[in-house]
Amino acid sequence: MKTIEDLEVSGKRVFVRADLNVPLSGDTITDDGRIRAVAPTIAKLVERGARVVVASHLGRPKGEPDPKFSLAPVAVRLGEILGRPVGFATDTVGDSAKATVAALGDGEVTLLENLRFNAGETAKDDAERGAFADQLAALADLYVGDGFGAVHRKHASVYDLPARLPHAVGDLIATEVGVLKRLTEDVARPYVVVLGGSKVSDKVGVIENLLGKADRILIGGGMMYTFIAAQGHGVGGSLLQEDQIPVVQDYLKRGAEQGVEFVIPLDTAVSGSFPDVKTGAPVEDFAVVDVDAIPDGALGLDIGPKTAQLFAEKIADAKTVFWNGPMGVFEHPAFADGTRAVAQALIDSDAFTVVGGGDSAAAVRTLGFDETKFGHISTGGGASLEYLEGKTLPGLAALED
Ligand code: ADP
Ligand code: MG
Repeated sequence: MKTIEDLEVSGKRVFVRADLNVPLSGDTITDDGRIRAVAPTIAKLVERGARVVVASHLGRPKGEPDPKFSLAPVAVRLGEILGRPVGFATDTVGDSAKATVAALGDGEVTLLENLRFNAGETAKDDAERGAFADQLAALADLYVGDGFGAVHRKHASVYDLPARLPHAVGDLIATEVGVLKRLTEDVARPYVVVLGGSKVSDKVGVIENLLGKADRILIGGGMMYTFIAAQGHGVGGSLLQEDQIPVVQDYLKRGAEQGVEFVIPLDTAVSGSFPDVKTGAPVEDFAVVDVDAIPDGALGLDIGPKTAQLFAEKIADAKTVFWNGPMGVFEHPAFADGTRAVAQALIDSDAFTVVGGGDSAAAVRTLGFDETKFGHISTGGGASLEYLEGKTLPGLAALED
């Protein structure tokens, strides 16, 4: 793989595929971590006189323009972080993009509008994706892949475009892959993996691969209720993936055979309804119950205090910790304690700690933790998990020479 140092960039149009998929509330960016993470790559290209064309997706628009998912606020924030003006094209490959790119001088930066405003970006059909990649390729001379959070996607800007231009790997992806290697090769033990979040089916898959690698797997977040159900308990109205129960039972059995310890919650915080995360309005019927006593209709929204303490103990002596997925609905203060406890346990351990996942990374920052206290905060959730699963990531394969 070439790095950006291997490219002659001066005076050239350099397409930087970034992952600027930041959480937004209206048009306010609630966590700018992903923008800050890719800024050094862009700054380096600027310094070397490149004409930098930055592109990203944001959210899941349906292949056509949707103002809710505009990258316009991101262009402003990127400019503040870089300390220089950042242009903005109001389309991705149309007249605005062409004109904006043509007007770029050496050392100038512009951001294109959301890649997913075009159906070709995510199309399953190779020809449709390829046609969109051709349009993107016309806007640049060189390609730098630095959108780590998207490298597991076989999308036009991630997979097809680098095949059409001389390409290199950006500094962010290079760093992220270096960290993931430390989680897969010669891992320092005990190796503890903490899994949570809401995408149960996405994350159950990674356990398969971790069975042969991790010493302990701690289960929180939405996934925990499938494990609790697999132990024969009712979970009320909590997130549950019924079809995964046999899969989870098989994991528990194989874990016991292979000496991998699954740590399943003892208690959970519940409420009769999903909390209002926008206003943070108090939760009238907040309760903590043991996992074998979740009332009918109650929603499990965080691990309970007994579990938080148990998890902290299971993390304390670790030498390596990988954490993906918040322990609860941390966006509401009533259900942030579990996530806070796990973050604190990572900081208190002497382990090499890695936090992966967009929401997990946002959680540690919005809960006020000092980022530098963690070994690494990854910008990729799904991408990290698929790497750990041992899968070939299309966006990394495409950056090979
Ligand atoms: P990441 O982005 O870190 O990979 P996910 O996207 O999988 O994490 O999940 C993050 C989301 O999971 C958060 O918005 C959080 O509110 C939600 N979540 C955590 N626990 C629960 C739960 N018990 N029920 C519903 N949602 C949950
Ligand atoms: Mg997420």
